[in-house]
Amino acid sequence: MGLSVQRWRSWESWLRGAAKGFDALVPAACVGCQRGLSVSAPPLCPVCRSRLPRLPLPRCERCAEPLGTPALNSAEHERCGTCESWPPSLRTVDALFAYADGAARVVRALKYHKWRSVAGVMADAMAPALGTVTSRLSPDPVCPLLVPVPLSRARARERGFNQAQALAEALAGRGLGELSLTLRRGEGGKHQAGVGADKRRANVRGRFWAPEVAIRPDRPAVIVDDVLTTGATALECSDALAEAGFLRIGAVTFARTLRPLDVERAETDGMRSEARG
Ligand SMILES: [Zn+2]
Ligand SMILES: [Zn+2]
Repeated sequence: MGLSVQRWRSWESWLRGAAKGFDALVPAACVGCQRGLSVSAPPLCPVCRSRLPRLPLPRCERCAEPLGTPALNSAEHERCGTCESWPPSLRTVDALFAYADGAARVVRALKYHKWRSVAGVMADAMAPALGTVTSRLSPDPVCPLLVPVPLSRARARERGFNQAQALAEALAGRGLGELSLTLRRGEGGKHQAGVGADKRRANVRGRFWAPEVAIRPDRPAVIVDDVLTTGATALECSDALAEAGFLRIGAVTFARTLRPLDVERAETDGMRSEARG
């Protein structure tokens, strides 16, 4: 009797562990609207996918900030002005979605719930932005190195999951680039949520580096992350890559935070695309 109870306990704990592992891979419901999904369905339903709040065009070709006015000639070679103070290492960033509504829920599903299948949906959506960044960095068709923003060792141990790496792996798995885990991050990072641009930059300054053995100056390096907030992390990463010898550096993120006016515009655009779908 004692033995079978013990067996049951170990079986039960194995089941719990397995269920936990399964949850980490596939959500049971759409991460946008909580509607139930079949096991094989992508974790974001078609309706929620069509409602993702797209950033309006034209966008700044350096920092992806919506420029607010339709381009007179072309969306290319337009700058917003707010990224003028950026150091020169980071040439270009693109993101397709505003960090709001469904896009924010998708980001949180990956980051906090660690649903890896969400990374695939995000990678599919990020592919055009990655293509834009790569073609800006290199006029010839070339396979970019995909460099996820790393976690510090302590944070990696604590969280057990790096959403930026999950995204870079998903992009690489789609043949859109080669995964490169070249960046390192020192300890002592502070939580960035709710912190202003200057403080963010101070929080991450000098905290990233890349070992010189990783240098591939012939290839464009594209930093991969889930959200661009002030750009502080992407800038520090690009400085570290430039210091290690990389010559062409860009960044791609799934979403970007916006000024309130632009969020409104993005919502309107999202509703339009929903009406079309
Ligand atoms: Zn949905
Ligand atoms: Zn800009």
